[in-house]
Amino acid sequence: MKDRNELDVITEKLIEAYPDARCALTHQNAFELLIATVLSAQCTDVRVNKVTPELFCRADTPQEMEALGYDGLYELIRTCGLADSKTKNILSLCRKLTEEFGGEVPSTMEELTSLPGVGRKTANVVLANAFGVPTIAVDTHVFRVSNRIGYAEASDVLKTEKQLMEAIPRDRWILMHHVLITHGRRICHARKPECPACCIYEECGFDNKTTQGEQTE
Ligand code: SF4
Repeated sequence: MKDRNELDVITEKLIEAYPDARCALTHQNAFELLIATVLSAQCTDVRVNKVTPELFCRADTPQEMEALGYDGLYELIRTCGLADSKTKNILSLCRKLTEEFGGEVPSTMEELTSLPGVGRKTANVVLANAFGVPTIAVDTHVFRVSNRIGYAEASDVLKTEKQLMEAIPRDRWILMHHVLITHGRRICHARKPECPACCIYEECGFDNKTTQGEQTE
């Protein structure tokens, strides 16, 4: 892992490179963000954003969502994939929101992860983007990119999250989650990262950086 001074340089360079980095899931409130994040599991944000306008037009509260029933909800979210389990989880979590949280999305990790289909990553996304709680949600992009760069040296997402929180100033956590995702989508791809075009090429600790020749194959 790199030292804090090196990582501070990398953090500022990445933030400067992606001034447009922000939550890519369209939402108007905590409930919409929670549902959109559940739908985004193994699905692209672009696809989720195509589905949610009609979904939220039909149902924008836990009660309305539950009233859609299995068939109604399944049909609306079918194209997001894993529709059976997502439908069941959303209906269950809406029931729990109504029965235990007064129809409101809770704002603690413990409460959020008590909801069906809501894991630590989804809870962190909601905490950060709906409630402004400093967190770093570790998805597939954040995991890959932060371990390549040298923010983390970890084999699982929980250790990666902890190391990221030590490596990045707290007031940058929420922003850096979006920045690392954006960097992973645009440059530091899973299969063939565009290292020659990378703004932190010199600083990055990845052992298998690609070369110009590989990019033009
Ligand atoms: S140099 Fe390559 S591996 Fe390192 S962050 Fe940039 S694109 Fe990713």
